[in-house]
Amino acid sequence: MTSDRKKLTTNFGKIVDDDQNSLTAGDRGPVLIQDVHLIEKLAHFNRERIPERIVHAKGAGAGGYFEVTNNVAKYTKAKFLSQVGKRTEVFARFSTVGGEKGSADAERDPRGFAVKFYTEEGNYDLVGNNTPVFFIRDPLKFPDFIHTQKRNPETNLKDANMFWDFLSLTPESIHQVTILFSDRGTPKSHRHMNGYGSHTFKWYNEKGEYFWVKYHFKTDQGIQNLTREEAERLKGVDPDHATRDLYNAIKRGDYPSWTLQVQIMKPEEADDYRFDIFDFTKVWPHGDYLPTEVGRMVLNRNPENYFAEVEQAAFSPANFVPGIAASPDKMLQGRLFAYHDAHRYRLGPNYHLLPVNKPKGVKVQNYQRDGFMRFDANGGSGPNYYPNSFGGPEPDIQAAEPVFKVSGNAARQPYTHPNDDFVQAGDLYRKVMTDEDRDHLIGNIVSHLCNARKDIQIRQTRIFYKADPDYGRRVSEGLGLDLKEFESLR
Ligand code: NDP
Repeated sequence: MTSDRKKLTTNFGKIVDDDQNSLTAGDRGPVLIQDVHLIEKLAHFNRERIPERIVHAKGAGAGGYFEVTNNVAKYTKAKFLSQVGKRTEVFARFSTVGGEKGSADAERDPRGFAVKFYTEEGNYDLVGNNTPVFFIRDPLKFPDFIHTQKRNPETNLKDANMFWDFLSLTPESIHQVTILFSDRGTPKSHRHMNGYGSHTFKWYNEKGEYFWVKYHFKTDQGIQNLTREEAERLKGVDPDHATRDLYNAIKRGDYPSWTLQVQIMKPEEADDYRFDIFDFTKVWPHGDYLPTEVGRMVLNRNPENYFAEVEQAAFSPANFVPGIAASPDKMLQGRLFAYHDAHRYRLGPNYHLLPVNKPKGVKVQNYQRDGFMRFDANGGSGPNYYPNSFGGPEPDIQAAEPVFKVSGNAARQPYTHPNDDFVQAGDLYRKVMTDEDRDHLIGNIVSHLCNARKDIQIRQTRIFYKADPDYGRRVSEGLGLDLKEFESLR
């Protein structure tokens, strides 16, 4: 009997006659190697996994659009931001950082917040977090830092000693540590958190004037967080709660959205500003630079296939469009290299050809050729070198970022801006947090730091003291430390 159903085939198109019984010699006999369908199926299965992202392994994603709601054309010539009402397709991915691909969504961790804008001038990626700052500000420290958030090389266990040892030896981390151990470190879902570009970026306009900007995606669902107890419970009963929440919300038509705002600073204001604007551990207080609305991002499409779109999605802060450029922020400079490099390792050198990564509004044309999995026409019969006399694509000087000045002595040098790493963490603790926020913060810290060695507890608690004496005192009391250890800091 023939059926109307689609025919099952091998990867090379031959119709498969039976997908339940291997080819055997006799009804109880051994399997024959000439069962090429069986061999293809087993061999492909063995190769289904690609390297897990070393950070941000566990993630969920969705498609949607970004719509401009406010005219910012005087600050940037980026075409996708050029007029109110303009819409650009986006793909967003949210993630935890330190856990493996199967880890729980409710882990205390910063959340990745990455958005790819498929603009008519190429892809623009904003690869941020749900926190406006970071633990470190020099990329040389990044591999060490991540090692301490992952597993102990001997025990293969998460390790409070490694975690707090590094942080207590890295005082600039205190601002991010304070946000991470507030309830914002365990968002209720991906829909209920803000996203921040975190770095300072450059915008430049048609006249070549430039501005420093910071991006803020404010959740239209409102910030909602889990308490420590709620997060601990969810890790057990539904480790995928945030992935499920995002998928189900979009499926039922309850599309999550975020309002994009930017803080804008004129270059002449940067030199003597009270904080170093390229220091990744600092914010620009809203009182100094009021955020300006730019537009709204709406996620209204679930991926049809998780691996194809979410696992293979490759974001990079190095993907800029004309009108937007890098700043000298050292961490950003490190990331400009690291993301593309990670994707070349994880997905191969031609990962830009994968549908989720491929620019949609512009044709890619250059002289890069060949490599593993080159699955487009590979430039066809066109020339593969430049310059050439055969009509190949040419650079256009109009696309250049306006020239900018750099100077100074080449040396390994720390941030020299005369500011204090403890000011903003202290402001957050004293001025922004409510009594309940502070209670939760102290409880969250004590329940984690108590697992570290006593000398590490003391060193870390000194840092809390420096941010705010009340903050330090409450942590030291929670840990049962001798207050005399901290008397000189009061
Ligand atoms: P503001 O009063 O102007 O802003 C405080 C901001 O803090 C709020 O707008 C909110 O930002 C954020 N916030 C509120 N509750 C918490 C919390 N429990 N954990 C973390 N962030 C929270 O003060 P300043 O601009 O002077 O900033 C004071 C401190 O606020 C900073 O040192 C920083 O720690 C924190 N903060 C500042 C941000 C900024 O860009 N200026 C952004 C986020 C935090 P949002 O609306 O973005 O949620």
